[in-house]
Amino acid sequence: MTYKNFTIETDADGIALVTWDMPDKSMNVFTVEVMDEIEKIVDQTVADANVKGVVFTSGKKTFSGGADLTMIKGMFSMLEEEKAKDPDGAVRKLFDAAGRMTWLWRKIETCGKPWVAAINGTCMGGAFELSLACHGRVASNAKSVKLALPEVKVGIFPGAGGTQRVARLANTQDALQMMTTGSSLTAARAKAMNLVHQVVEPDQLISAAKQMIKDGLKPVAPWDEKGFKVPGGGIWTPASAQLWPAASAILRRETAGNYPAALAILKCVYEGLQVPFDTGLRIEQRYFTQVVQTKEAFGMIRSLFVSMQELGKGARRPAGVEKTELKKVGVVGAGFMGASIAYVTAAAGIPVVLIDRDIEAASKGKSVSEGLVAGAVGKGRMSKEDGEKLLALITPSADYASLSDANLVVEAVFEDREVKKAVIEAVEAVLPEGSIFASNTSTLPITGLAKNSKRPAQFIGVHFFSPVEKMMLTEVILGKETGDKALAVALDYVAAIKKTPIVVNDTRGFYVNRCVFRYINEAYDMLAEGVPAVMIENAAKFAGMPVGPLSLNDEVAVDLSQKIMRASIADLGEASVKPEHMKLIDKMVDELDRRGRKNGKGFYEYPAKPAKKFLWPGLKALYPQQKPENVSVKTLQDRLLVTIALEAARTMEEGIVTDPREADVGSILGFGFAPYTGGTLSYIDGMGVKTFVKLCEKLAASYGDHFKPTPLLLEMAAKGETFYGRFDPYGQVEKAA
Ligand code: NAD
Repeated sequence: MTYKNFTIETDADGIALVTWDMPDKSMNVFTVEVMDEIEKIVDQTVADANVKGVVFTSGKKTFSGGADLTMIKGMFSMLEEEKAKDPDGAVRKLFDAAGRMTWLWRKIETCGKPWVAAINGTCMGGAFELSLACHGRVASNAKSVKLALPEVKVGIFPGAGGTQRVARLANTQDALQMMTTGSSLTAARAKAMNLVHQVVEPDQLISAAKQMIKDGLKPVAPWDEKGFKVPGGGIWTPASAQLWPAASAILRRETAGNYPAALAILKCVYEGLQVPFDTGLRIEQRYFTQVVQTKEAFGMIRSLFVSMQELGKGARRPAGVEKTELKKVGVVGAGFMGASIAYVTAAAGIPVVLIDRDIEAASKGKSVSEGLVAGAVGKGRMSKEDGEKLLALITPSADYASLSDANLVVEAVFEDREVKKAVIEAVEAVLPEGSIFASNTSTLPITGLAKNSKRPAQFIGVHFFSPVEKMMLTEVILGKETGDKALAVALDYVAAIKKTPIVVNDTRGFYVNRCVFRYINEAYDMLAEGVPAVMIENAAKFAGMPVGPLSLNDEVAVDLSQKIMRASIADLGEASVKPEHMKLIDKMVDELDRRGRKNGKGFYEYPAKPAKKFLWPGLKALYPQQKPENVSVKTLQDRLLVTIALEAARTMEEGIVTDPREADVGSILGFGFAPYTGGTLSYIDGMGVKTFVKLCEKLAASYGDHFKPTPLLLEMAAKGETFYGRFDPYGQVEKAA
């Protein structure tokens, strides 16, 4: 029998080597077709008397990335369609769909012939669960091999036997830790956790896997043997009596109860370990069916899995512009940002010229890359040769002539219109016709800067976030005259450096900073009302924000806030900044010299390490303090999330952001907006625009007009619309096509 996605070669020893190699994909993923074929392979190999056992491997560099985007999307649309017709039937269908993989993997496990997974590369999610259902697992020791059950990161959990098998192989604490964080394991760590049997050299992988079968590997899982005992003795032991209360408390601390999937993992393991294996699988299947229906799962899968991939693959790239292979990128300004932009560009294998006012400054910029490379090599994350190759790609220079063959120049000089004007002119004097100029400005509108350009159609904003090496998001900003070619090149560049782009129309603060400043401003309001600072910071964390607003302001720098506020007043008038906010920040900066982390004092104190930062006690003296028991933490949480979401809605209304996927993904990657919501607009859609409008009105009555719902929101509430319905990103693509 032949298969589309698999080949089978049976050797003289009767071992069938099943190689998974999807013809039209760079990575193997599970589709309905792949599962159907695996089922046929199980039937075929069981029926074939010549086959003694099966080695299952991948023909790609990686083993598999897990489930396919289209399959997940299909599951949600099936649920929606069926629910409209028959709500109970829809859930039953979902239950069956959720169990498809579970019971297919179980079929492998109980087929009567030994199966060995030969894991040659990254093995994620359902693929790792498939391996766990094999009787033997051999992994290559190549650095690229990572094993993980990362489902929790997108709001679901390992629902194809993962919670049951991992908890029956590894000790419970490790099992819970791995699954509730979704963290990756190296092959060696997986072996230490008892999740793989052998770790071998890459070229020994298949022979070692075959050898396991030749050595008489039993086609029976440990839990199907009589007398099987869970590692550590199961739930009813003194050790478990210690572990479980702590596990629940840690989960609560880490997730604030915002992630139903993480809690479901604990439940699956706790309940599953007390019953026979098949019953455990059924428990898992039930919780999975329940979790998939939560708005958290829906929002997270949509934004963090589907939309992120779509944006990364160029969902907003203009059609009909040929892809640009970047041969050379110029970075002008080798300071804090420019130095790191040069690093990420070289890390993508693109030659970079790093220019500053003199060669010393340019070389100092390159030394940042030298430090980053030394760190990565020291930690074993990069080989010495790769590090040398990367550094060789960065040429420091003070001579603009070296930009004469660059496809793209990214400008990251001082935030000063005159300095930028001079640089634009100097670069354009040498830059080839058709090459693109991108500014990394964070506050100056692109349309205004482009007035200094002789070719505004080739002028664009590419806004990075700090630290550039770590932040996944890049805002691409369109000036009024920016053309398609500039957008296409900018997106090709962002894709090459493996960041996720959002495309934003020109406005003060673009998208991310507009939202971030709302968050910080709300904290200023709260401080002025006398809300204890610690309650503000904790409420933010309970709401799911990774960093409290005061802590974030310290990171950004309090004096930068002051600069931005003053610039707003200068450009837009007094009314653009609340006097109470200006007063607070002027006092912090001018009077108290509390500029943030950078000078060791801001809203927090920063004692010498290893001591941890703590809130500055002097904050209490700035405003008369409210009694904590009179402050509603829930209201603080609502205020912090609503003020950001409202700003996101305003950007849609103004046409600054045009695609809800970008507002959502941008908010999570840009400033960690409560990921369980799926992002700013999914937060609104998730509770319903009508409910959101009511919440805004309630907050406006007590906390100010900035909470008033906008005309668009009122209209959407009246019509019963959602952001994803009204601004349907797929409808837009169809319309454009
Ligand atoms: P920086 O002061 O650290 O670096 C600016 C660099 O530009 C300096 O090395 C300076 O010598 C160089 N420079 C100045 N004039 C020059 C000229 N005429 N020719 C060549 N080089 C020149 O500043 P930064 O924080 O890296 O910010 C740079 C840009 O990036 C600004 O537009 C800023 O708004 C933007 N930005 C900053 C951040 C951030 O977190 N710092 C984030 C996003 C964007």
